[in-house]
Amino acid sequence: MKRQLTSFILSAVISIQCFAQDPAAQKFAAEITAKRTKKHLKVLASDKYEGRETGKRGAEMAAAYLAREFKKLKLTAPVKGSYLQDVELIETSIIVNSLEVNGKKLQYLTDFTFSGSGEAKIINTDEIIFIGSGTESDLKNTTIADKVVLLKQEGETAEINKRLNFIKNKKPTLIIAVNFDTTKPQHSHLAGASLSVKNGIRESVPMRANTPGVIQIGSEIADKILSRSGKTFGELNADNGSQLIKADVKLNYEPVKRGLKSSNVLGFLEGTDLKDELLVYSAHYDHIGMNPDGGKDKVFNGADDDASGTSGVLAIARAFAKAKNDGNGPRRSILFLMFTGEEKNLLGSEYYALNPVFPFAKTITNLNVDMIGRIGTDYLNSPDSSNYCFLVGADRLSTDLYKISENANAIYTKLKIDYKHNAPDDQIYYWSDHYNFAKNGVPVIFYYNGKHDDYHKGSDEISKINFELLAKRAQLAYYTGWDLVMRDKRPVVDVKD
Ligand SMILES: [Zn+2]
Repeated sequence: MKRQLTSFILSAVISIQCFAQDPAAQKFAAEITAKRTKKHLKVLASDKYEGRETGKRGAEMAAAYLAREFKKLKLTAPVKGSYLQDVELIETSIIVNSLEVNGKKLQYLTDFTFSGSGEAKIINTDEIIFIGSGTESDLKNTTIADKVVLLKQEGETAEINKRLNFIKNKKPTLIIAVNFDTTKPQHSHLAGASLSVKNGIRESVPMRANTPGVIQIGSEIADKILSRSGKTFGELNADNGSQLIKADVKLNYEPVKRGLKSSNVLGFLEGTDLKDELLVYSAHYDHIGMNPDGGKDKVFNGADDDASGTSGVLAIARAFAKAKNDGNGPRRSILFLMFTGEEKNLLGSEYYALNPVFPFAKTITNLNVDMIGRIGTDYLNSPDSSNYCFLVGADRLSTDLYKISENANAIYTKLKIDYKHNAPDDQIYYWSDHYNFAKNGVPVIFYYNGKHDDYHKGSDEISKINFELLAKRAQLAYYTGWDLVMRDKRPVVDVKD
């Protein structure tokens, strides 16, 4: 009994030692406030910034704002004296040269829209297959590989996309989708240009090269296609099931590429005795741009995604800059890295990974913050709703990093840490910029509030941000970083992912 008591006291002493608070860390954490993150977020997510789409004016304005803020904090500009790293991109648009139906030329946008990808293609057929709504039972006894199919398209967007993917997997050469309720074509959100990094991984492999293109038309053009069959689209629809139809369809399209520039924004804070080693804080400042279907609200503000993370990282940068000013600067250097192109497939971080400004071998950890300003759907009715954070990746490469993170939370922020999205079969680990560090062997932690109903919608608004919660989560990333830049040994990479 006594013996047990002694060892209990001993372990209590040890744990008190390792759970001690660092007054200096706490002093500068006070810089990370709801008020300060709100100041930045209100600018970045304002309508003026037009949804910060990569390659567009709003994103350039956001990059300029971030560079100005870094300068105010007296961070070093590490890209040959600049805060901006040029990110060279290739924009690929598919141009329809001509579409002819039963000998009659159709007009792009007036009569039809088109979305496609891959190489140039000429399609020339004298028969098409009507596949009803394209359900499993509609396609049961029909082979549509290398055929042009005519589809009756109806229902919710999510249902439509699911069905289109189901049909695409059966490898038709072209899908003609009829929006039954309208005489005019719908503007598919799938249309438009795709971006890739110049000389990057995806540019050399045309994405979805074998994916069939989709023509969207209204019922008026559908009737023109059916003119030789003696039926209207309405009558055909009533017949049900798939059937062969005589119709001449000629389509000619090709990809057109052009160069495009955007920027990652980098601010550097030099360390002291261990300054060759580097901690990277990151967030993406880009979002998905303007919303043509938004009615009065034409901007995707992306307040949570990811103006929240960007504002959080700015506040963290201020805290460390202030610490350095007061003679409590980090021993290791810190890079604050705001990415472009995340929404276009992690392009800014892919570019950085191909052209790192600081060597990966010296990069000890990446703490990436994407969506930290909201209460996600999972927590709406939870007692922890205003005191939780999802963490992803902490234990995937380094057991040290996991312990450091847990320790920082236990001592200071006391959030409920949820590792649900860190499950091996969860895809979130691959879905934000930290992945481009992880695949280069750099341990990462991803901070995230979880999905909510406003994700990638016009309703991801400033008014819905919980700034107290945003600041608290940013403080967790700050305290974890404080330990990482101050400790004697960098976290060891000891886990095979
Ligand atoms: Zn995001």
